[in-house]
Amino acid sequence: MKEIDWANLSFGYMPTDYNVRIYNRNGKWGELEVSSSDTINLHMAATCLHYGQEAFEGLKAYRGKDGKVRLFRFEENAARLQRTCHGIMMAELPTDRFKEAVMKVVKLNERFIPPYESGASLYIRPLLIGTGAQVGVKPADEYLFMIFVTPVGPYFKGGFAATPYVITRKYDRAAPHGTGTYKVGGNYAASLRASKEAHDAGYSAEFYLDCKEHKFIDECGAANFFGIKDNTYITPLSSSILPSITNKSLMQLAEDMGMEVERRPVLEEELSTFEEAGACGTAAVISPIQRIDDPENNHSYVFSHDGKPGPISTKLYNKLRAIQYGDEPDTHGWVTIVE
Ligand SMILES: *Cc1c(COP(=O)(O)O)cnc(C)c1O
Repeated sequence: MKEIDWANLSFGYMPTDYNVRIYNRNGKWGELEVSSSDTINLHMAATCLHYGQEAFEGLKAYRGKDGKVRLFRFEENAARLQRTCHGIMMAELPTDRFKEAVMKVVKLNERFIPPYESGASLYIRPLLIGTGAQVGVKPADEYLFMIFVTPVGPYFKGGFAATPYVITRKYDRAAPHGTGTYKVGGNYAASLRASKEAHDAGYSAEFYLDCKEHKFIDECGAANFFGIKDNTYITPLSSSILPSITNKSLMQLAEDMGMEVERRPVLEEELSTFEEAGACGTAAVISPIQRIDDPENNHSYVFSHDGKPGPISTKLYNKLRAIQYGDEPDTHGWVTIVE
């Protein structure tokens, strides 16, 4: 095998040795299967292709200084996948089966887990799809759960830095009682045009307001939002945002650091009172926000004048990464060592 250039990995797909699959037939989950093919055989009438019965997850495996490989809060990903499947009428995979599959696929692809020093990690992508054939709009009678992995580079190649975001009023991501709280591919399809327009205009991502009134903050691109003011960590409460495991962890760490934590509706105008702001998710942990432009209102909310992340965002970022890589003690029982 060609040597992998760990320092220059992108967030792309690099083939690895194996993926794992579990089929659900006749209402029962079967045995874990190992495959070295990166394609799947699918019925052309499968519900995932026509009616969007598709759910996914994203987590990472981190190699520590001690050489050990760690997973971060994978039980939360298993639970969220179950919620998503429940939401779109798909078979739910029990947490112990999810664990069995993650452990197996990580171990089988051990040689693709980047070394500690590189700051890179192994991205783990579970997905669950309706494979049973239907023509009428109905849930499938067969499902496939699978996981592939691929090594990904550190998110911040040029160092941890703040970047600009833009509010979109033209597009909504998900309706108030729609599928916004589920990790389904359809939400991403619905965001692609807004995302493209934001990127073309030089922004890191589009920023969504609540879709009923366009008054409150929802989330940004594919990440949750948080703001910092008066020693308080504030994150929106909304029925259309995806419950981020990173955000949940940051709320706990902020509390550990002696901060107040508020999860509540956040009016757009309140942005002008935040001392720091960030987008959070597994990919980057925290992407500090330099400013949020609202072009339709001809307004700009600025959080960083020099492009540098604020002190609290930096502290939270370093703390969470240190736990994930095993540099600091795991006081909340968030980490599982892959053995
Ligand atoms: C996955 C996802 C996030 C981040 O969730 P994490 O569990 O922190 O990775 C945020 N928003 C959306 C829309 C997502 O799909």
